[in-house]
Amino acid sequence: MAVSEFSLIKQFFTRPAKNKHTRLSVGDDCALLSVPMGYELAITTDTMVENVHFFPDVSPEDLGHKLLAVNLSDLASMGATPTTVTLALTLPSINEQWLKAFSTGLFALADQHNIDLIGGDTTAGPLTLTIQAMGLVKSGQALQRSNAKVGDLIYVTGTLGDAGLGLKVKQGFQIEKPESILNKFNKPLPKVKEGQQLQNIANACVDISDGLAADLGHILDMSAVGAVLNYEQLPLSEEVEQYVQSTEDWKLPLVAGEDYELCFTVSPEKANELDIGCTCIGVIEEELGLRLNKYGKTSHFKKQGFDHFKEV
Ligand code: ADP
Ligand code: MG
Repeated sequence: MAVSEFSLIKQFFTRPAKNKHTRLSVGDDCALLSVPMGYELAITTDTMVENVHFFPDVSPEDLGHKLLAVNLSDLASMGATPTTVTLALTLPSINEQWLKAFSTGLFALADQHNIDLIGGDTTAGPLTLTIQAMGLVKSGQALQRSNAKVGDLIYVTGTLGDAGLGLKVKQGFQIEKPESILNKFNKPLPKVKEGQQLQNIANACVDISDGLAADLGHILDMSAVGAVLNYEQLPLSEEVEQYVQSTEDWKLPLVAGEDYELCFTVSPEKANELDIGCTCIGVIEEELGLRLNKYGKTSHFKKQGFDHFKEV
């Protein structure tokens, strides 16, 4: 028998609430969430559309993971602790096997962070997936893009360009050991703990979804400052290092999206308080714009990054 919208929600997306801030979960017209005194609610949403954000052959389990991961990455960049999410699903048809795998991937990551799914919407149409994620952050402590100061050191977590190389491998580019690169593309790990630990240390922070240059560019624009990056200091995986050497596509680590690492700025006096895996890649300057220091030569780096509405 075909599954109805309501039994679908009950079967795949209703679980007992675990997070102490959830007051009312799936089933009523709204969910209820308590916000403790002295905290603010951080809210973000991200949509993924088939053939725009993912290939039709993607594993539904990975897709469930990634949809949540990209939202958690936004909370991480503000230093917020995730609590709850809502899920809007638009499905061309009801495929129980697909839904089971999708919800398994989503809940596996949710459980790692004690997150409840507290509501959503389910409709028929072209495959489109949206999560709205909510988190808590101490009042006035959220890390914002607009607070970078001249003289701040610029850091990134993890390595750059892996997901971008993963995408190229998906599209047919051949490398010797594609496993770890593909894993980073399919199942990015949001830097939630790192973001929390950066509170009181970082001045500004952004997560890298559209590429380092584009996302650091947001910090620069909103803080009305400029920056210089040292190309030789960019943290690269062996795979990306090899790719850059063999293709001379040296821009990949600067412009490729979907790494979901954090890029943040710290005043030099506070740099010794950093206790997370990260690499210093440059410095904030008064002169506007982004400059790149590569093999001893400094040049202006033109803004580039993905834009859904850019005409080509
Ligand atoms: P309404 O018509 O009042 O908007 P719905 O019939 O759409 O409510 O949804 C019934 C309940 O199921 C609501 O609590 C809603 O938040 C929840 N819900 C709907 N779709 C999902 C989903 N994909 N995941 C989790 N909860 C969902
Ligand atoms: Mg509804």
